Amino acid sequence: MNYPDRFDVIVIGGGHAGTEAALASARMGCQTLLLTHNIETLGQMSCNPAIGGIGKSHLVKEIDALGGAMGLATDLGGIQFRVLNASKGPAVRATRAQADRIRYKAAIRGMLENQPNLTIFQQAAGDLIVDNDTVRGVVTETGIRFHADSVVLCTGTFLGGVIHIGLDQSKGGRAGDPPSNALAERLRALPFRVDRLKTGTPPRIDAKSVDFSQLEEQPGDSPTPVMSYLGSREMHPQQVSCHIAHTNQHTHDLILANLDRSPMYSGVIEGIGPRYCPSIEDKVHRFADKSSHQVFIEPEGLDTHELYPNGISTSLPFDVQIQVVRSIKGLENAHITRPGYAIEYDFFDPRDLRHSLETKFIHNLFFAGQINGTTGYEEAGAQGLLAGLNAARRAQELDAWYPRRDEAYLGVLVDDLITMGTKEPYRMFTSRAEYRLLLREDNADLRLTEAGRELGLVDDTRWAAFSQKREAIEQESARLSTLWIQPGSPAAEQVAEKTGAPLTREYCLSDLLKRPELNYRDLANLPGIEGTLVTDPAVAEQVQIQAKYQGYIDRQQHEIDKLKRHEATPLPAELDYLKVEGLSNEIRQKLAEARPETLAHAARISGVTPAAVSILLVHLKKRR
Ligand code: FAD
Repeated sequence: MNYPDRFDVIVIGGGHAGTEAALASARMGCQTLLLTHNIETLGQMSCNPAIGGIGKSHLVKEIDALGGAMGLATDLGGIQFRVLNASKGPAVRATRAQADRIRYKAAIRGMLENQPNLTIFQQAAGDLIVDNDTVRGVVTETGIRFHADSVVLCTGTFLGGVIHIGLDQSKGGRAGDPPSNALAERLRALPFRVDRLKTGTPPRIDAKSVDFSQLEEQPGDSPTPVMSYLGSREMHPQQVSCHIAHTNQHTHDLILANLDRSPMYSGVIEGIGPRYCPSIEDKVHRFADKSSHQVFIEPEGLDTHELYPNGISTSLPFDVQIQVVRSIKGLENAHITRPGYAIEYDFFDPRDLRHSLETKFIHNLFFAGQINGTTGYEEAGAQGLLAGLNAARRAQELDAWYPRRDEAYLGVLVDDLITMGTKEPYRMFTSRAEYRLLLREDNADLRLTEAGRELGLVDDTRWAAFSQKREAIEQESARLSTLWIQPGSPAAEQVAEKTGAPLTREYCLSDLLKRPELNYRDLANLPGIEGTLVTDPAVAEQVQIQAKYQGYIDRQQHEIDKLKRHEATPLPAELDYLKVEGLSNEIRQKLAEARPETLAHAARISGVTPAAVSILLVHLKKRR
């Protein structure tokens, strides 16, 4: 049966990628269909109920800056907020929120249901309608045919999903959900390169059976951080603490004694797991010298007693899981509410995608999320937004849009994936971004909201709030450079007290702000200045960061400009990278393997730093 309405864009899968894709496409005015297995699981967190963290909050803020849902849903569902790396530089500072998974899901569903141009339909997609190497629509497993100009596939861990608990296996997309096998078979028949990855999750625990007096309490930050640029503390529900527990030698002995019953170590699982989110059996095996690992005991929500023990993801048999959990101090009587498990699934080699996330072999078909070999809600959401907006642009017969590596973590993510591919679940880190001083979480809106507005992604409310903030920052920065402190004045004496050095000449406030001992709040208290500075903390923070780091930021911008001038410089095919002096061995090997065609291509290889590119440039000049 043909569904009576035609759509501009169809998005398959209502997880983190699919919801951002559908919302982005609909915001841009495209009639959009979100086709998903189960409406009750829209926006479901398959694993830990947390959003953000290092490198990841940068993506959330970029999604938010482009009008996406994840940041606001986090503010509506977040029950504990912290800033990680708070004492370090702003480039690596990151916001992390523990979420109430029910409230988070409800917030996402609310946004989807209230989004104009968006239709939601519950059915499993079983086939794609492909004609002349171009996708034309989707057929559900019950035979309903939907037609559209472009299709975005966001099926997560569901394609050919196999769940492992010890040596027992069952088919599933995640615990409690069916796999997507018909679609997996159809995709395997198309010319994409496909492989298997795996990920895992810990058993969940009933809080009523935990002795919290034996655990270390970890409260959230005060004042409470906020995730979205449109968010506020008033949006947050009640805030609660997490707790910290520790594995011990007995825990490790139990795990080691049962490794032969682990599907990973007995060779049953072939897919590679996330290196930076390893299972507890992996940690105990790989770091044999460590006698203890931290376990963060995180609440799953305000209306449930379930806890998520972050750090003991496992696919060991259930009888071993019980012993492992109960070997931990404070968890001696713990009742497990759901067993931990590992899941293996199909993913497609992202090198078969364009920067827009359109597949190279089938026109108008886009892939986003875990299907591209990534792990994490934030990585999925960011790709979903990009794929959704490009699917919409394709339907509107417009050119693709994507940010560059120096503009956004989203640019880094997509460029890494499509240039280098991935052999293990890819997660974002600040270290992956060579221009991380420019790509801070505090300035994602300044980097992207204007582009988002032009793309049709940013609504009037967000645009008005952003424009007001941007203007306030510009005005305040300009004003600080016109306010002078004279030597010998009471203000100068206060500055000398703070910095330990007297002012020997007059200084404007923007220059004083560059000093490490002074922050914006100190200036606000100077005699003659007090009461005149801005009160909006986001504006004050931006003015301060821009003043303090301007030198470094300018240097990074200079490197980008220099690289742009040399982008097209060809790299000779016979160049022996192993002999280029000044490069690290790792970079030499990466270049030798990838054999980039131009300097720009070399610069895009993950781990090839701007400094390495400069060395290559000098080397090329010497050869001439
Ligand atoms: P998903 O969130 O999986 O959403 C896929 C959606 O597609 C679902 O709604 C599904 O119902 C729907 N769907 C699938 N097939 C079809 C179809 N044929 N028709 C219609 N709808 C369909 N991430 C981490 O960062 N750290 C971790 O430790 C971690 N552990 C994990 C452990 C497990 C067991 C699982 C399952 C996931 C884990 N993840 C982890 C990954 C995280 O859940 C994903 O990265 C994220 O959810 C990916 O988002 P997505 O939108 O790509 O897919």
